[in-house]
Amino acid sequence: MAPVKYLKSTDLKSWLGELAQENRVFAPRYEGDAVIFAPFDPEQEIFIKYAATAPPKKTVFPQSEKLVDFMYSKDPEDLSRILIEAKEVLPQGTAIVFGGRPCDVRGFTMFDRVYMSEEATDIYYKARRDNTSFITLACDSTENTCFCHWVNSSPSDPTGSDILAVPVTGGLLLKAVSDRGESLLTSKLLSEGESKRDEAEKVIKEVADSLDQAPDLAQAPKKLLEVFDNIEFWEEVSAKCLSCGACTYLCPTCYCFNITDETQGMKGSRIRSWDNCMSALFTMEASGHNPRPTKAHRLKNRVGHKFSYYPDLHDGVISCCGCGRCIKSCPAGVDIREIVLKAIAFEPTVTEG
Ligand code: SF4
Ligand code: SF4
Repeated sequence: MAPVKYLKSTDLKSWLGELAQENRVFAPRYEGDAVIFAPFDPEQEIFIKYAATAPPKKTVFPQSEKLVDFMYSKDPEDLSRILIEAKEVLPQGTAIVFGGRPCDVRGFTMFDRVYMSEEATDIYYKARRDNTSFITLACDSTENTCFCHWVNSSPSDPTGSDILAVPVTGGLLLKAVSDRGESLLTSKLLSEGESKRDEAEKVIKEVADSLDQAPDLAQAPKKLLEVFDNIEFWEEVSAKCLSCGACTYLCPTCYCFNITDETQGMKGSRIRSWDNCMSALFTMEASGHNPRPTKAHRLKNRVGHKFSYYPDLHDGVISCCGCGRCIKSCPAGVDIREIVLKAIAFEPTVTEG
């Protein structure tokens, strides 16, 4: 059985402080009205009551990151030639993310299939991913936007985590999920946890039992393809959308980016920044043609990608972890669950004649 330790709530900051001596530690805290993952600061309160407003995506996949520094110079042998020297800027050091939720952390496994596949590996993503540990908080309550259980997960799913932390009386029960997680459980601040194991199992069971019956999404990939060319369907479900992009920026599984070069004289840097498929400019081509010209086309891509195209390419895995952030944060009330269920229920009208 995996080793378990008990951490008193009053010792949480001290423990994270210990871990921060050798790692960059991120924890959820308020910044303005939002709870975000920020570098651990013992002076700031750690917020663990509910899932953070933004997932910890940027800890492994920063919103903006430098990939390469480059410099142009004249070839001294032939002054008509320009030489370019480029140097990769690889992330250094180890990091620990405390307080992500099971849905958030499982989201990285969907990134992994794209950024660390056999065909191609993104060295920047891999450098952070390999050196980041996750101490994940099991949920002891859910919100009405949560639907992790629709997508083959649960509020205590340890997938992708190194330690699963379950809230129990007066603190957290810490269960090692990986060898790396076990190696983080050596502090003298931690006491034996076996006596809390039953209470933790009860918390996990109660929250799982509180969830409604999940619908069967097995037909989603096929049914979304059936409505692919039905623009009326997509116009109807996207009618309220404002194209603000909040849903993509807050999504733990949206991984699209854009590349820009920032230059100053003969020097420059290549920068990668998140991009979002709900923006009209995302697919705008240099000719002026846009293959996704309306918000109906763009929402079709977002939903289709997560519930149809990605599963088709990745062993049926849905690339939505059911965190519900896109629903909670959408200013127009667009609900991805309703769209998927509507597509599954859709039957084309048969005209006689
Ligand atoms: S958050 Fe809502 S309004 Fe904004 S782009 Fe997404 S679906 Fe549209
Ligand atoms: S699509 Fe919505 S519910 Fe699914 S992972 Fe992204 S933000 Fe969460």
